[in-house]
Amino acid sequence: MKIVAIKETHKGETRVPLVPQTVDKLVKLGAEVEIESTLGATCLYEDGDYEKVGAKVNKNRVDLLKSADIVLRLRKPPMEEIELMKKGCIHISYLDPFNETELLDKLKTCAISAVSLEMLPRTTIAQKMDVLSSQANLGGYVAVVLAVDQLDKIFPMMTTPAGTIKPARVFIIGVGVAGLQAIATARRLGARVEAFDTRPVVEEQVKSLGAKFVKIDLGETGQTKDGYAKQLTSEQLEKQKEGMAKACAMADVVITTAQLFGRPAPRIVDRGMIAQMQPGSAIVDMAVETGGNVEGSEVDTIVEIEGVHVIGMGNLPGRVAITASQMYSSNLGNFVEHFWDKEEKKFTLDLEDEIIKGALMTHDGEIFSETYKSIVNK
Ligand code: NAD
Repeated sequence: MKIVAIKETHKGETRVPLVPQTVDKLVKLGAEVEIESTLGATCLYEDGDYEKVGAKVNKNRVDLLKSADIVLRLRKPPMEEIELMKKGCIHISYLDPFNETELLDKLKTCAISAVSLEMLPRTTIAQKMDVLSSQANLGGYVAVVLAVDQLDKIFPMMTTPAGTIKPARVFIIGVGVAGLQAIATARRLGARVEAFDTRPVVEEQVKSLGAKFVKIDLGETGQTKDGYAKQLTSEQLEKQKEGMAKACAMADVVITTAQLFGRPAPRIVDRGMIAQMQPGSAIVDMAVETGGNVEGSEVDTIVEIEGVHVIGMGNLPGRVAITASQMYSSNLGNFVEHFWDKEEKKFTLDLEDEIIKGALMTHDGEIFSETYKSIVNK
């Protein structure tokens, strides 16, 4: 069975889908692995590093796509490359399915079995393949580093002969995987950290990292069966803003990570709240690419609003591309291994498996995912 890894074409993407360590694992499973030449260049892997562990290297992208049984890549495929792949080819990547209905239609028509990594269930068994977690975790770390870079103050408390410096105050909004890592990173640097999430269950996790949970009574909020936040009503959102205004005003750094599964991110920091912050403070909007949590934030830009640096850099894991690629590649390797039949030496697409039921979007000329059908047909 031939597994092919294709170079990323998205402008500015620095991560790569497959690193040599994972090739080694796949080859040992009995797979034939072929990569596009210079696949790993942005992460300083040379073609020879892949060859050493048993991969073939090919310069001809079209040939690679035409001959693949499984394609591994990072981002969604360009439309024109879909029809190059064989019927029944298993394509594994991010797909952003709810914003890419045309792309999904094309994958369906070409009878590609397309796996959307965003749709992997958040279950214990799928944790080892969970790219959302591995990349969000790094994103949370990078968000703090970016804020540190913008701030004209230090994070830790310092007691020196010149006097005592107070620790910086950091407020994290949204405590999923990214938020937890942002708390941990800010704490490691010595900041005083507060955090808020609409899911009250995270309070214990926040406390265990040495941060304070900001309590706001929003009435019924809850979470979905997969642990995602439910959308708030407009009244609840207003209450949330009022409740957070004080924590924002006192913060030197605000990091927002709030997301809603399959929907645009909620707008939770407005201009009025920014105006209450000290000039020179910083806000990192980690949701900027999905609509933004912060009024006025712009993708890939740092804008000054009311004297506050509003950081809207996209693709934060791409700023630590080597680590991010190692993790992403390892997630892909674990996914393939999980469904690999060691005797037959082939990937088995078990349509009854819960992971496949969650992540397989198109199969055999049909839309396969029930979640996609229920959300898109609404
Ligand atoms: P996410 O990226 O979808 O959202 C980030 C955070 O934003 C969430 O904590 C969410 O509750 C919060 N949020 C949404 N609206 C908000 C608002 N108005 N104000 C403040 N916060 C708001 O979340 P994620 O990091 O992907 O995690 C989603 C869930 O999956 C969590 O429960 C997480 O613990 C769980 N998870 C489970 C596993 C596993 O068991 N395998 C792995 C990873 C994550």
